[in-house]
Amino acid sequence: MFCPKCKSEYRLGFTSCTDCNVDLVPKLPSEEAEFVKYQQVLATHNAADICFIKSILDGEKIDYFFKGELFNQLEPPVQPAILMVRQDQVDTTNDILKDLNLTFLISNPKIGYEENPET
Ligand SMILES: [Zn+2]
Repeated sequence: MFCPKCKSEYRLGFTSCTDCNVDLVPKLPSEEAEFVKYQQVLATHNAADICFIKSILDGEKIDYFFKGELFNQLEPPVQPAILMVRQDQVDTTNDILKDLNLTFLISNPKIGYEENPET
């Protein structure tokens, strides 16, 4: 048990900090709680799909972003746009996308995709 204020550790049996008069918590909030991991879910070259996926995921309050989304440029994109979803929402996202029957999607975006392609 820890005091959330002074971060003192207490033995079992204590319920509040004797110094700060605050209730103890089982765990101190992690310093890295702010660091959110994103995982790639799919890749696509299809701009219409991206718009569609965005509208769906926005509606489902999924935390996501597209990486390498360059469809506004004249050159056709060499790399597909990668859908990155917050790690704890990947399963939910997969469930949502599964029902959409998006046949244009590259099912395994890890193949043929490099994180930092040489220029
Ligand atoms: Zn304390």
